Amino acid sequence: MTAFQRVVVLGSTGSIGESTLDVIARHPDRLAVYALSAYSRMERLAEQALASRAAVVVVPDAKARDKFVAAWPAGQAAPEIRIGAQALADTAADAQCDAVMAAIVGAAGLPAALAAARAGKRVLLANKEALVAAGSLFMQAIRDNGAELLPIDSEHNAIFQCLPHGGRAGAPDAPAPGVRRLLLTASGGPFRGRDLEDLHEVTPAQACAHPNWSMGRKISVDSATMLNKGLEVIEAHWLFAMPADRIEVVVHPQSVIHSMVEYDDGSILAQLGQPDMRTPISYGLGFPERLDSGVGPLDLTRLGRLDFEKPDLARFPCLALAFEALRAGQGACIALNAANEVAVDAFLAGRLGYTWIPRVIEATLEWQGGQSSVTLNSLDDVLALDAAARVYAGNLGLA
Ligand code: NAD
Ligand code: MG
Repeated sequence: MTAFQRVVVLGSTGSIGESTLDVIARHPDRLAVYALSAYSRMERLAEQALASRAAVVVVPDAKARDKFVAAWPAGQAAPEIRIGAQALADTAADAQCDAVMAAIVGAAGLPAALAAARAGKRVLLANKEALVAAGSLFMQAIRDNGAELLPIDSEHNAIFQCLPHGGRAGAPDAPAPGVRRLLLTASGGPFRGRDLEDLHEVTPAQACAHPNWSMGRKISVDSATMLNKGLEVIEAHWLFAMPADRIEVVVHPQSVIHSMVEYDDGSILAQLGQPDMRTPISYGLGFPERLDSGVGPLDLTRLGRLDFEKPDLARFPCLALAFEALRAGQGACIALNAANEVAVDAFLAGRLGYTWIPRVIEATLEWQGGQSSVTLNSLDDVLALDAAARVYAGNLGLA
């Protein structure tokens, strides 16, 4: 039986953060919250900290701290409040914690996720942008420090479950033996079957209305453009040491098969389940054992059928751009992710049309390709290119 674990939840007020707290609360005999972090919604953070008896909370600045203090109920013992990005990374590496849920959205979560890896923690990685921006650095940190890495993204969690990992959750440096391909499933999002040209008038609310999953706004838009699947291809490349040409995307509108592994003998193993992130989260927390996640059984006879299609790269240019970035190298992946974060922010704020998202990404990739190559061996190198790409994308006059 796995020892008792104290967990840090980075991004606890988000969709993944909330689901993580739900799973932890089901297992007081083996899981407890050590620290929580949030960037906004301090009232919610206070409620979470009270309910989970967190010892520490991490907030972005003094203003957020004041809001947290104001929201804290009188007479209750308050958690220690830490402030700022450095405190976030230090908390992820804190000797008091065993496992870190990396559930901040965007490359902003990279320094803290990397700190957890460097401190040899069990890292539950939801924050895919961290891996897209700094895959080799992050995987090396897992390897060098004996950290455990459990993929939480449902597709990667499914693949991990279907691979022969022997109860170890490390960082492979070659594809698992006998594996021919990884098959990443994609729902196709809310605009599957619609032409890109029909999408000029799409509003943030329409883009965020995912047919199967309830998620944060940024990943919901990414699912609509299918850039999310592109980020996941890059994520799979790093997590499973798999070359791009052995990762295939299959559109599967029901989101019941979360992904598959194809072996040399023709076998395909798949993981199925309800579209509820508590399944991969509890798998990561309990590994190598199985925990009750609160997710009910899947009634296959009610479901009746499962459908599969090829993704249409012309209709979803973001997916093609991500494959292009992966082949071009790490600098291109950083530029792809940064440009997308800038474009999606602008779209959600009503400053950019939906169909401009791939154009901002493409232009930023072209800019990065024209730059003289820079070394990307450290976190600072990665953050510098990420910042420069954001400036470029933001100055396009579009965003
Ligand atoms: P969300 O927007 O619901 O929550 C994001 C969390 O990060 C919040 O707690 C927020 O306060 C915090 N945050 C935002 N900006 C920050 C910053 N600059 N610094 C520190 N903290 C910040 O997002 P989500 O849907 O929970 O997604 C979180 C991550 O998990 C993303 O990388 C996403 O791609 C990945 N993921 C999510 C799902 C899902 O079902 N929601 C599935 C797979 C992967
Ligand atoms: Mg996913």
